[in-house]
Amino acid sequence: MKKIGLLLLSNILLFNIFTQGQETYPLDTLNTKDKYTKVVLFSDYTWTYLELDRPDIDMDALSDHWDTEAIHAFKDVEIASLPDTVNLTLVDATHPFVLPIKGSVYSRYGYRRKRPHRGVDIPLTTGDSVRAAFNGVVRVSEGSSKTGGYGNLVIVRHDNGLETYYGHLSKILVHENEPVRAGEVIGLGGSTGRSTGPHLHFETRYMGKAFDPERVVDWTNGCLRDTSLVIRKQYYNINSRYGQADRTVAQTSSSSSQSHATSSANSSTSGSPQYYTVRKGDTLGKIAGKYHTTVSKLCKLNKIKETTILQIGRKLRVR
Ligand SMILES: [Zn+2]
Repeated sequence: MKKIGLLLLSNILLFNIFTQGQETYPLDTLNTKDKYTKVVLFSDYTWTYLELDRPDIDMDALSDHWDTEAIHAFKDVEIASLPDTVNLTLVDATHPFVLPIKGSVYSRYGYRRKRPHRGVDIPLTTGDSVRAAFNGVVRVSEGSSKTGGYGNLVIVRHDNGLETYYGHLSKILVHENEPVRAGEVIGLGGSTGRSTGPHLHFETRYMGKAFDPERVVDWTNGCLRDTSLVIRKQYYNINSRYGQADRTVAQTSSSSSQSHATSSANSSTSGSPQYYTVRKGDTLGKIAGKYHTTVSKLCKLNKIKETTILQIGRKLRVR
């Protein structure tokens, strides 16, 4: 029987010494049009296909508004027509997550110098590998000339409907309609487009509508916030940030004409624990004031000291 394995050519000579006259051995592997299928050539001039593990992608879910030319494929879909809440499974046994690039968010989702910033910026060094966050198919792979401020841009559609955007790349390594697995390098980081320095501009969108990517990714700890994601309609608002939205809902639910304040969003008024995500400039005193509690109560709840340095992004129990 033939041994199918990926041998480095430099090892073949050594291999040959041990197998001379006994067995054929792989000479080389060749790429095919399909990146998950290779051809292995053997020393006796025979060959065989080698099937690599394919990412688990449900292709049926990828047909809606599939447009490889338009950056925003859902322009005709009004936010009003979207459901109040969408529950997405982000990861399971066959759908992993990989951090696109390590680093901390230095520019968040929201208004920035009077312009909407619909993603997060993660600083990097030009040439750093940028990885697909989840399995998916590349919907857009486009150079700076066609993407405006995004620079070289890759958009991946995941089979739960979520799309992730990767902007300002110095080099794109995938083409449209190409399946990619979570963690696959889809491009190299850079500073193309409207950018003042090398960074990754990362967006998360559902049905074309952007929401704060920090609802999905915890960049401070380099992991997913949760295995699933509930997207509330108000998250598509540029002023709705991770760590503040549910509070906003609680405050505005009585005056808002929209009735999407759900029971879970209102739970802050009951006896269940409530959390706050530390932001730039926060102190225990400030947070305590905001929640009508005391610093010592906060310290007890979170088992920290008054002198503990609050890391941005840390979740503090406030009730
Ligand atoms: Zn950005």
